[in-house]
Amino acid sequence: MSKNLVDICVNLTDEVFSGNEDSIIEEANQKNITKMVLVGNDLKSSKKCQRLAQRYNFYSTAGYHPHNAKEWDENSYAELQKLIKCENVRAVGECGLDFNRNFSSPEIQHEVFAKHIDLAKETGLPLFVHERDAFHQMHKILSENINDCKKVVVHCFTGTKNALEDYLSLGIYIGLTGWICDNRRGKHLRDFINIIPDDKLLIETDSPYLSPFVSSRESHITSEMKRFNKPAYLTEIAKTVAKYRNQSYDHICDITYKNYTNLFGIN
Ligand SMILES: [Zn+2]
Repeated sequence: MSKNLVDICVNLTDEVFSGNEDSIIEEANQKNITKMVLVGNDLKSSKKCQRLAQRYNFYSTAGYHPHNAKEWDENSYAELQKLIKCENVRAVGECGLDFNRNFSSPEIQHEVFAKHIDLAKETGLPLFVHERDAFHQMHKILSENINDCKKVVVHCFTGTKNALEDYLSLGIYIGLTGWICDNRRGKHLRDFINIIPDDKLLIETDSPYLSPFVSSRESHITSEMKRFNKPAYLTEIAKTVAKYRNQSYDHICDITYKNYTNLFGIN
């Protein structure tokens, strides 16, 4: 396994990584995960992601996760505008709709997501979308706005085949996480991830969440590995995605790296 991989969703500002960023990144580098996109989920974390991205020569995103939509205030738009001017901030998000737990009310989530779409249109940056249990509303909104948005990625896709087809028909990029490795929650995805065209596929850990080992029964998998995900585990996701797409590991490395450069506008 010598090809380079890029993890397009690392929550490096999560407190579990705090103070250990160097070693987390070093461990990933040893597995040829050479690039990461550091994903912001509110103003504070978006600012911190930008600083960390600068320090480690990565890229970052700026936005409010739908869970945090209730924290949006009258200064948020201008603050994000300012942050996005930094060269290494390359997407608006993560943003979107999450009706699984409704940590922010659906009304507020809709309102704040609309602001992010405005920002993506205004800046020409890609939209980094989180959608959970909100496919129909999300698909409607994206359909109405897709012509004015430059590029869109729906990260951590865990939905149905029909949902995937509908996103793909809008030309949206799809991010796959360790769900695909989960024998319980991710099994359904294995039957149809091969419909994602080579030029729309991305992979991500969404670490420290969603460990790819969560349902593993292999003896060398510790409870810590199940509980605590990190970018180094991206190779597990790449392997599983390769298996169920009937493609080689190297091919997955090649196409996902190329898609990362296209989506985030990297030369
Ligand atoms: Zn997300």
